[in-house]
Amino acid sequence: MTAQSLALTDDLRQRMHELYRELHAAPELSMQEHRTAELIEGRLTALGIENFRCGGSGVVGVLKNGDGPVVAFRADTDALPLAEDTGVEYASTATGQLDDGTEVPVMHACGHDTHMSAALAAAEIFAGATDAWSGTIVWIFQPGEETAAGAKAMLEDGLWDKSPKPEVVYGQHVMPSLAGTINYSVGDAMALADSWKITIHGQGAHASQPQDSTDPIVLGAHMITRIQTVVSREIDPRRAAVVTIATFHGGLKENIIPASAEFTLNVRTFDPAIREKVLASLRRIISAEAAASGAPEPTIEVLSQFPRNYNNPEATTAVIGDFKRELGEDNVVEVEPMMGSEDFGALAEAIDVPSVFWMFGGHPAEVMEGDGPVPVNHSPFFAPVMEPTLSTGVKAAVTALASRVGK
Ligand code: ZN
Ligand code: ZN
Repeated sequence: MTAQSLALTDDLRQRMHELYRELHAAPELSMQEHRTAELIEGRLTALGIENFRCGGSGVVGVLKNGDGPVVAFRADTDALPLAEDTGVEYASTATGQLDDGTEVPVMHACGHDTHMSAALAAAEIFAGATDAWSGTIVWIFQPGEETAAGAKAMLEDGLWDKSPKPEVVYGQHVMPSLAGTINYSVGDAMALADSWKITIHGQGAHASQPQDSTDPIVLGAHMITRIQTVVSREIDPRRAAVVTIATFHGGLKENIIPASAEFTLNVRTFDPAIREKVLASLRRIISAEAAASGAPEPTIEVLSQFPRNYNNPEATTAVIGDFKRELGEDNVVEVEPMMGSEDFGALAEAIDVPSVFWMFGGHPAEVMEGDGPVPVNHSPFFAPVMEPTLSTGVKAAVTALASRVGK
């Protein structure tokens, strides 16, 4: 239930659009969101919301308004190394530096600018309507979602020691679905994800003298082939798991057997027990295939690890009921869990409280129903329409939070 005073006014909507254009034109790479953080701090301070830095470029705002529940809302803030090709007038021409110093174009291609704009508008609504609610709202502006570094950095920096602990954490993400609608799943929402880089250590030799080599290419080929049996032969077919090997590099010339080769793999699962089983099988195969070739133990480097994103059924059902009342029954649609990943779930998991994460659409009907391709997140063509995308994001955020703290 949204009280009249928690409604989004036309004036605030216009200012949100300006903020969105400003954020969209000034994207920053993961864990480098310093100007973005300053902008958010400025906005929160202007709204009278006490705030502090957390996890480097993360910002936490704590809006206290008397007794009542503590609830948290998270918006992520990072962008991607991609040249924008949307053609919108506020398109990004920004550049940034990768960790290795390479200069790259930067774009809000995952729509995190919509998340920040909607969250700041929702914060303004609650800050300006203190008679309509009671409790504490923790606004989490989280950096580094794309690399799974941000939630981890905030938690390691003592997020929940510095902030009041919420009874629930909410979050949302813009998606290539119809603007004005919400998609959600009950239970599993998004997959756990693990990325590894495996370095195979062999013995180099002339191509004509294989007897002097331990060929890392042949060894790697066996590993990669056998790894295909983890999901197909070791996992219950009723449970979801995927293992993808998307890179395999070794050697520089056709007549030199290289001394090493490397490949990267990406694992997606929903059930932590299945994840453990897949990862253990991968380690076993990588180690045993190396032994079978007489090669040393390969090196496994963990590149990233995305946590579980699980929608607590009770908390989700409650929020969805409110969404349907606010946005219309037909505009709130249950969908299958996504194989994509998010580090949002780690925030609530760290303090063992429920979390709810939903998706809001960003494309108009002409795009969704047209003949052309529908641009998805991480595409250089991903340009959510401002409305009704942003207003839906604000309504969803306000509705979810008001369901706990509203009067
Ligand atoms: Zn993304
Ligand atoms: Zn994203």
